[in-house]
Amino acid sequence: MSEPIPRKGLHRLVYASNFSAAFPSSVSDQDHEIGEIIRASIRNNRAVAITGLLLARDRWFMQVLEGPTDAVAATYERIVRDPRHRRAAVIESGPAPARLFANWNMCARRLSRADDAILARLALDETRLGSLSPAQAVALLVEVRDLQAQTAAEQLG
Ligand code: FAD
Repeated sequence: MSEPIPRKGLHRLVYASNFSAAFPSSVSDQDHEIGEIIRASIRNNRAVAITGLLLARDRWFMQVLEGPTDAVAATYERIVRDPRHRRAAVIESGPAPARLFANWNMCARRLSRADDAILARLALDETRLGSLSPAQAVALLVEVRDLQAQTAAEQLG
């Protein structure tokens, strides 16, 4: 974490990290593990009013956490110590006027090769995720949020 997080108000924190050697290498085991992470996240985040989204790609995670400042700080401090990832780099951390991911205490989406067009359109350099601008990272997360909402609506209808 680059800077201490102030302790008041609605806060948004976005970070990126790399899978560690402790994270499974096969896609099916990864999906299982991500499912476990989301189960624990929903349970914990709901209790402290955190909402957000977790993206997973071939070797990296990107996650947004939104909520009361102290809850975001405590949750991120726990996440960053998790041995399943490493080299977490905070892209954005600061006060937020409103929640952008209010629908989920946590939701995950794996970005597959079919989603390459999104990354290309946003001109994201996957090898330098930690140095993405906050605007680029939030644009990606919001685009995937809308995709996820659309997928959920299609599954219902
Ligand atoms: P449990 O889920 O019951 O786990 C108990 C302990 O075992 C914890 O210390 C946990 O870290 C460890 N553990 C569990 N499974 C494994 C495993 N397979 N390998 C290594 N250690 C393991 N937690 C949240 O609350 N909110 C989030 O938004 C969130 N996002 C995450 C995003 C990523 C990319 C990762 C890797 C983890 C995330 N977590 C999140 C999980 C977080 O790091 C903690 O594991 C979790 O919060 C602990 O929850 P718990 O106290 O209910 O313990």
